[in-house]
Amino acid sequence: MHGLMQNMPLMISSLIGHAERNHGDTEIVSRETTGGIHRYTYRDAHRRARQLARALLSLGVKPADRVATLAWNNHRHFELYYGVSGLGAILNTVNPRLFPEQVAYIVNHAEDGLVFFDLTFLPLVEGIAPHCKGVRSWVAMCDRARLPDSKLDLLCYEDLVNAHSDDYEWPEFDERTASSLCYTSGTTGNPKGALYSHRSTVLHAYGSALPDALNLSARDTVLPVVPLFHVNAWGLPYACALAGSKLVMPGPQLDGASLYELFEQEQVTVSAGVPTIWLGLLQHLQAKGLKLSTVQRLVIGGSAAPPAMIRTFDDAFGVTVLHAWGMTEMSPLGTVNTPKGKHLKLSAAERDKLRLNQGRPIYGVDMKIVDDEGRELPRDGKAFGDLLVRGPWIVSGYFKGEGGNVLREGGWFPTGDVATLDADGYMQITDRSKDVIKSGGEWISSIELENLAVSHPAVAEAAVIGVAHPKWDERPMLVVVRKPDQALTREQLLDFMRDKVAKWWLPDDVVFVDSLPHTATGKLLKTKLREDFRSHKLPS
Ligand code: AMP
Repeated sequence: MHGLMQNMPLMISSLIGHAERNHGDTEIVSRETTGGIHRYTYRDAHRRARQLARALLSLGVKPADRVATLAWNNHRHFELYYGVSGLGAILNTVNPRLFPEQVAYIVNHAEDGLVFFDLTFLPLVEGIAPHCKGVRSWVAMCDRARLPDSKLDLLCYEDLVNAHSDDYEWPEFDERTASSLCYTSGTTGNPKGALYSHRSTVLHAYGSALPDALNLSARDTVLPVVPLFHVNAWGLPYACALAGSKLVMPGPQLDGASLYELFEQEQVTVSAGVPTIWLGLLQHLQAKGLKLSTVQRLVIGGSAAPPAMIRTFDDAFGVTVLHAWGMTEMSPLGTVNTPKGKHLKLSAAERDKLRLNQGRPIYGVDMKIVDDEGRELPRDGKAFGDLLVRGPWIVSGYFKGEGGNVLREGGWFPTGDVATLDADGYMQITDRSKDVIKSGGEWISSIELENLAVSHPAVAEAAVIGVAHPKWDERPMLVVVRKPDQALTREQLLDFMRDKVAKWWLPDDVVFVDSLPHTATGKLLKTKLREDFRSHKLPS
């Protein structure tokens, strides 16, 4: 017997409809690509998303067609999120920081018919256009006055929107319909597409707004630093509409000073981004002796948040860090670190230890760890193994069947991360499986060593990689970027680390560099480091 509840499909358009009806005057503020601040409301955004949908239809966009963006976090990109998916087409947010060949690969693989781009990316667009024959139109996200001269026959975003009325009803269709497409930023091989649905997106928005996740409300002002081209800005454009939070988008200016200015000016309460962004903000705050007067929570994810960073934000700035873990294939949110009631009675030292791991799964994400034979390992906080996940916002396969059947028995998706789980559900990543260092048959966690190195006051950033060793197969070596004007030696750093890790974990060598290589999404590019140091001779 079925229940007698209405079977309302979970539609992305219902999020912006809800925001207009109930939070119509709540602001969406953006730093424009061309400078200056743009300010309007959910009511305005919804109106323009409907005008945009009509414009897209007039350009021949049909349900299931792919429409690409190469754009910063701004109000037009937000409108595309709703306009494209709302009419039943698929928004392919492409990462403009990838190499032009990869961008062209994605546009061709996705079969994008239209590409919307911010003016910053005109050279990129002109470069790839001859290799993207399937693209019918390139649309510059600006008004007519700013439309650049180009060898391409560009369309103008504002002209398109203004030429259409907002008299448009969002269609209702099967909630499992594809809504958006994000390609993974894999360090090897071609990028693969994670194809989200209306259902998965709305469920993820519900899940991520929960109190023990990002705890979003209509009292929050949220600034996603995480780009709208990277896993849908961790779902924030949807979750903020669901919660009725004011949204602030930073455009192309992601340096510490620009972010600080927006935080203070717009009274931001929540922000989200990768650790390198927060490193820039912290350096700015400390150099100028500034305080954050309204920020309450910073979501840090994408790479392990160094404990020193978590502590500094909390202790020196009164900001709670929400250390979160997830991946493109998981929409992306999997776990968030928040304490439970029983932890409130713990000593400061015990609480401190607990707040550093990647946190507990939010409802909707099921996880387990397994050994090389696929046998489940105990949830004791000690055993570590391959982390598998399943749930309604986790991929069942990649777009166009790339990579074949990616699920293990029982529908489990292998994350490629190695982790521990404890009896309370807390998960700690020890490594990417590709980055694990195996020394004398035992695993050494590169993340733990990196965190320790970064806790030294003179260290800005650190990476640990395995280097070939005749006796132990591999030994860890540390590659370090010093903070400006700091004179730190190899011996000083190793002395600092010596009594804080098992003796055999201590890196065999330390090398200082000016900067570390990062992927297009801000992660350490360890494949490049391993290549650079392949023939490095460890001191005997
Ligand atoms: P992406 O799909 O580009 O978002 O990358 C996902 C991967 O980033 C995960 O599988 C992890 O290896 C890594 N990652 C994300 N968040 C964290 C975190 N909080 N701590 C450690 N690694 C993380």
